[in-house]
Amino acid sequence: MTERIVVGAALVDGGRLLAARRSAPVELAGRWELPGGKVEAGETPEAALVRELREELGVAVEPGERVPGQWPLKSPYVLQVWTARLLPGSAAPEPLQDHDALRWLAPAEIWDVAWLEQDVPAVRRTLAQLGL
Ligand code: C5P
Repeated sequence: MTERIVVGAALVDGGRLLAARRSAPVELAGRWELPGGKVEAGETPEAALVRELREELGVAVEPGERVPGQWPLKSPYVLQVWTARLLPGSAAPEPLQDHDALRWLAPAEIWDVAWLEQDVPAVRRTLAQLGL
């Protein structure tokens, strides 16, 4: 089956990484992720990232660079990560859809939250990429 991409955002502000706690579906609820979602047909991953963060967190972001690698999710999905920053004038993120808490994590706090298992290697690679 052709793989389908889920984009995750490594949204960084002031040296902190945004983590979002899922409230749905039940099997993922309570676990933390890099916010994002499925790339739709005809959409670029960067456009999907911008759309998902607007829908889920109410923010306006600019995608940066791809974090090298991809991580398997439930088939046929794979997780790819892009760095991102809030555009000047963006609202602050709030959990609007699928999440019930957000945290801006300083480097020393990154592993204080229960990340989704599949996000752990992606977060590790992201930190290396960002030099955090
Ligand atoms: O957010 P959305 O429901 O569109 O994400 C699609 C699927 O991708 C989720 O069900 C979740 O399993 C997975 N996902 C993930 N890690 C992320 C973002 C999404 O495992 N950072």
